[in-house]
Amino acid sequence: MTINAQQELRIDVREASKGVVHVVDRAEYVRRAREGGTLDDAWKAMADLGLLGLGVGEQDGGSGEGITGPVALMEALSEAGVPPVLYLLTAFARTAIQRHGTDEQRRRFLAPTVTGQMKIAFAITEADAGTNSFAMQTFAGRDGDHYVLNGEKLYISAADNADYIMVVARTTRRRDTEDRRVGLSVLMVDRHTAGVGLTPMKIDLHSPERQFFLHLDDVHVPVENLVGVQDDGMRTLFDALNPERLLVSAWAIGLGQHALQRGVDYVRERSPFGTPIGSYQAVQHPLARANAHLAAARVMLYAACEAFDNGEDPGANANMAKLLASEAANAAADAVIQSFGGSAFDADSDIVTLWPMIRLLRIAPINNEMILNYISERILRLPKSY
Ligand SMILES: Cc1cc2nc3c(=O)[nH]c(=O)nc-3n(C[C@H](O)[C@H](O)[C@H](O)COP(=O)(O)OP(=O)(O)OC[C@H]3O[C@@H](n4cnc5c(N)ncnc54)[C@H](O)[C@@H]3O)c2cc1C
Repeated sequence: MTINAQQELRIDVREASKGVVHVVDRAEYVRRAREGGTLDDAWKAMADLGLLGLGVGEQDGGSGEGITGPVALMEALSEAGVPPVLYLLTAFARTAIQRHGTDEQRRRFLAPTVTGQMKIAFAITEADAGTNSFAMQTFAGRDGDHYVLNGEKLYISAADNADYIMVVARTTRRRDTEDRRVGLSVLMVDRHTAGVGLTPMKIDLHSPERQFFLHLDDVHVPVENLVGVQDDGMRTLFDALNPERLLVSAWAIGLGQHALQRGVDYVRERSPFGTPIGSYQAVQHPLARANAHLAAARVMLYAACEAFDNGEDPGANANMAKLLASEAANAAADAVIQSFGGSAFDADSDIVTLWPMIRLLRIAPINNEMILNYISERILRLPKSY
């Protein structure tokens, strides 16, 4: 896709996404975060507007493969202040299925997500393993025509509203393999299967979508729900986690831009000394710098999308985009909070409420230190540090 074509796609998607924001705008999103409520109506609007077909090939009922469309949608909705996390998870899970799923899996898991009938959450994180996913304990033992899955995951976003959860488990225990990368597998788990349990976590993210402990107790998963090759889940994951970094970058850039615009609007008006504080360089410059950094991150992001859609390894650009996007969004939010002064902390201003989610994106889904490790090792060829 040329840069012009990417631009046109972004403009079209942004225009169409207004129909979703019409259903759930920022004020309604915050209200649901505080008082409860799902984003089901926003999801339905996305389906009705044809937006859920972005990223899915025409043969599977969508409007075209590629990560650029979903990234543009995530950016647009985040910029409107209504980032749909379950959409992000569904979009990257689909990418892995597209690239590694069987024809039958494409039929079962892609078409229903285009119509909005199916949503997919993602579960890899475990309490003791943390960033070191290879140390996970969740185990899927093969028993005839199914796996028996046992373990516990945490922080699983929007699991209560998902129909399937893409679960990463060990099918060969760590102690039984010399190569830590061998032995992982990716399973599609029907959330309503016996043995699947959810306990809400107390997470202060200011989002209507919540996080859960996921308990997996003797869950029977049919072998036909294995995506890719048993024990070679890293290959499948590669085509889930790179798109995830791209979608997360779009989330950060969009939400950072949302914060920045709110800040600019405020400093034009606020005038404790009689002139708007937006006329002071000390107030302008952090906002201007944030704008430049968000723009640079956006260029890197869409370059990474292009690489991914061309079948190239997007690893370097995807990681750098996530680093730059999350740092730019954090700087934007920090500058905006400073500009708002005390009123940033007034719940009605909905400014400090942006902070937890923007701050999170330096930590999740992969912390920026791990990204710097990646750049050090893979790009700069420096020794592994951990
Ligand atoms: C709101 C929220 C939503 C989430 N949603 C999901 C989800 O849907 N599905 C899912 O599977 N997970 C999810 N997560 C989990 C998230 O991906 C993890 O929290 C994240 O990967 C970091 O793992 P950890 O919290 O165990 O940090 P730890 O592994 O304990 O790391 C803590 C800190 O140590 C540093 N660090 C760790 N390792 C290194 C290293 N090798 N080199 C340098 N520094 C290092 C980093 O600064 C890091 O932030 C979510 C988390 C939150 C808070």
